[in-house]
Amino acid sequence: MIKQLTLKKLALVFATIIATQLSGCATTTKDSVAGVKRTQLMLLPASQVVGMSSQAYIQTLKEAEKKSALNTDKAQLARVRTISNRLIAQVGVFRPDAAQWKWEVNVEKNEQVNAYCMPGGKIMVLTGLIDKLQATDDELGAVIGHEIAHALREHGRERMSQAYMQQFGLQALAAVLTKGTSAVVGNASMQAASLGSQLFFALPNSRLQEREADKIGLELAARAGYNPDAAITLWQKMGAQGGSKPPEFLSTHPANENRIAELRALAPKVRPLYEAAKAGADK
Ligand SMILES: [Zn+2]
Repeated sequence: MIKQLTLKKLALVFATIIATQLSGCATTTKDSVAGVKRTQLMLLPASQVVGMSSQAYIQTLKEAEKKSALNTDKAQLARVRTISNRLIAQVGVFRPDAAQWKWEVNVEKNEQVNAYCMPGGKIMVLTGLIDKLQATDDELGAVIGHEIAHALREHGRERMSQAYMQQFGLQALAAVLTKGTSAVVGNASMQAASLGSQLFFALPNSRLQEREADKIGLELAARAGYNPDAAITLWQKMGAQGGSKPPEFLSTHPANENRIAELRALAPKVRPLYEAAKAGADK
């Protein structure tokens, strides 16, 4: 009972919760030209989030297959995979472990203007994004680079951790206060885990996460030999899609002036990386 606990005991309970629940409070990526170094609070283990995401991705592939909408255009698939693989070849700059991830790249025939990369490197590009924007290779490099950056920063895991804090934190605390067993806390973790894939799609990235993905994505694309200016034209094209039925991507990625201004400011800093990559490729 709470009223029987002294403040000292309460502090001990909090410390126990933090010790058992906190699997990481660190930055996921290495500092680089992009300058992203925010410390992140992670409650769920990375392996758990990657496991849940893999399951959700397999499910998505199965459903697309059933509708005969998976990788229907071989030339388009080859194009998207070539671009993605060039980006993936550079992820080690930001985190060496990501080079060993089980990356997968697929294309779904779907008129939505959208693309995503689930935790652990599961990429999906919807054909609406390629067709409606008439995206160049550089622009596809920019948008896929942005999505890969979300995965490198483990933004999905961060969002799930935050939701876990909000939904289950108090419940777990109550369980510890009344019973003092870690089993009950463990059970709350399980409940959170089952919500994982739903959370990935339901919870939009925060503005802060978006800015980080823009920055790292821009650098990643430049290192892969994609023109940083394409990130700007991509967002302009995306914004022009608005109208009465704005693209799916815009609901989570507002193409506002700030976003474009920040990309414009960072572009000259990553341009030497782009020039070097181009020079290397031309040899
Ligand atoms: Zn994003």
